[in-house]
Amino acid sequence: MGILNGILSRLGLVSKTEPAIPNSDVVMCDIHGRSGQAFVCQHLVRGSGLGFYQPDNPADDVARYSAWCGECDQVLRQEGEWNDASEEFANVTLICRGCFEVARTRNET
Ligand SMILES: [Zn+2]
Ligand SMILES: [Zn+2]
Repeated sequence: MGILNGILSRLGLVSKTEPAIPNSDVVMCDIHGRSGQAFVCQHLVRGSGLGFYQPDNPADDVARYSAWCGECDQVLRQEGEWNDASEEFANVTLICRGCFEVARTRNET
C-alpha cells in the first residue's frame, strides 16, 4: 500500500511538471514527436491530390487544424452540415500538426 501510494504520488508529480502546449492536447507522433492535435478525414491521412478543405472562418485551433478532402466536401454539401452521414463518411482521424502540414502539402490541388 505504501509503495503504491508512493508510485501514485510520483505519477501525479510527473504529470504536473510536464510542459504542456497551451490550450491544446498533445499528440505523440513517431515522426514529429510532441505536437498539437489536428483532425483530418480518413482519406487525407494517406491520400494525395484529394483536395484540402478547411472551415471558412476557423474560430479556434481545432477548426484551424481541421481539414477534409474533396469527396468529403461533396458529401458535406449534400448533407448541408456535419451530421452522422457526413461524419461517418469522413471518419475524422486525429493526427499531429506536423502530419497535418504534410497532408496539406500532399493533397492541396
Ligand atoms: Zn475525405
Ligand atoms: Zn506527425
